[in-house]
Amino acid sequence: LEPHYQFMVRVRAAGGVTAPEQWLILDELSELYGNGTMKLTTRQSFQFHGILKRGLKPMIQSVNEVLLTTLATCGDVNRNVMCNPNPYQSKVHGEVYEFAGEISSHFLPKTKAYHEIWLDKEKVAGTPDMEPLYHHTYLPRKFKIGLAIPPNNDIDVFANDLGLIVIEEENRVKGYNICVGGGLGSTLGDDTTYSRLADVIGFVSKEKVIEVAENVIGIQRDYGNRSNRKLSRLKHTIDDRGLEWFVKELEARLGWELDRPRPYDFIKNGDTYGWVKGINNKWFYTLFVEHGRVKNEDGYELKRALREIAHIHKGDFRLTGNQNLILGNVAETERGNIESILEKYGVKNNPKLTGLRKNSMACVALNTCGLAFAESERYLPSLVDKLDKIMLKIGLQHDEITIRMTGCPNNCARSSLGEIGFVGRAIGRYNLYLGASHNGDRLNTLYKEMLSEEDILQALEPILTAYAKKRERGERFGDFVIRKEIVKPTDRPIRVLF
Ligand code: SF4
Repeated sequence: LEPHYQFMVRVRAAGGVTAPEQWLILDELSELYGNGTMKLTTRQSFQFHGILKRGLKPMIQSVNEVLLTTLATCGDVNRNVMCNPNPYQSKVHGEVYEFAGEISSHFLPKTKAYHEIWLDKEKVAGTPDMEPLYHHTYLPRKFKIGLAIPPNNDIDVFANDLGLIVIEEENRVKGYNICVGGGLGSTLGDDTTYSRLADVIGFVSKEKVIEVAENVIGIQRDYGNRSNRKLSRLKHTIDDRGLEWFVKELEARLGWELDRPRPYDFIKNGDTYGWVKGINNKWFYTLFVEHGRVKNEDGYELKRALREIAHIHKGDFRLTGNQNLILGNVAETERGNIESILEKYGVKNNPKLTGLRKNSMACVALNTCGLAFAESERYLPSLVDKLDKIMLKIGLQHDEITIRMTGCPNNCARSSLGEIGFVGRAIGRYNLYLGASHNGDRLNTLYKEMLSEEDILQALEPILTAYAKKRERGERFGDFVIRKEIVKPTDRPIRVLF
């Protein structure tokens, strides 16, 4: 006998895209081995919860059989590379999407151990593989890369260890601004840990980006803290030694200097819902999936709807960086059928969804994340119900305000970037953070600690009411609370090395 362990399996699909046949297999695997649901994550991958130990290997094998993988979805390597999942929005989106795939493949670990252990490919021990970049030590900690195309910061580029901001010229990608040192996780009660956004250190042409990325990862491999995992992300390496040191070291390794960062302008960090037509004349429907949970409930049978769509869909399924799903590459003639299925199962985007709900994100937390101090995904919808009543009363129901909740400060749902952010402290108790920007370029700051639901509503109602009455034209909620000195702006602003 042994404890009844259960596991989480994270599946990456290239570019966050799955074909209908793959979707159907994932759906089936969630029933066969998991808890019957799927979670679309904030990093454009799938999570399956409740996998028992005996189900792990067959599950991973089945995932690989349909050309998806779990390789490098955890561990101290580069994780999946994020970018806008719709390459058909413009030529630039297409170029960036393809490049994200190239970066992702380039930084996959080269070891065959994964295949030996999980896929029964011959030997499981012996001469270790040679990892050209990760060497025998791998990285001190996970490493994250994301690419954003202004004006939409939909993948929260500054939350990545290495962020790449697209700089366009005449509808083509000219190059990328390089951002380094983002990471939002921290540990409660340990001030040496903190959320940090990436600094913008320079511009390089697109041909040089992989060389730069290799060297950024190389510096982290060689200088990252290997004695304390809480202090081992690139952000710590940079803060310990200084940003100027980092740029100097990077340029020394490259043998050339970065150009100055080019101007860029982000306006939001959320998704745009509903139908858009791609440059390939196909249609793309961004479906609101509350906190990314694909499941069936009374009157809201999302899993059944998507399964039925997968049976007739000739396009694909695309995961956004905000836990939503794009039904992609839909022919004009198929739009009606897709909509009918969504309507039949009660999951079509509801026009009555408030701006707050449309901009909400929550991590898994209880009851499947072992690190959670409090509920998140299972609780935020009901809190938003109550906040929505306030929003309706004060006329803010259409206002787009980002609200994010995590069950612990690891920040998987990027709560440090919520204009309203919650971090779980204990069952039913949350720290409330305010003042992040709406475009993801400023962290929020702590407003009040250990709040119950009643405390949260009492704290937020007067602030939201003041915002409704006293905001300046076009002023975002996160900016308002800072202008009104309800919270101080973060003491960790992004540095741009102009
Ligand atoms: Fe778990 Fe914390 Fe991540 Fe939420 S933020 S999923 S509680 S580790």
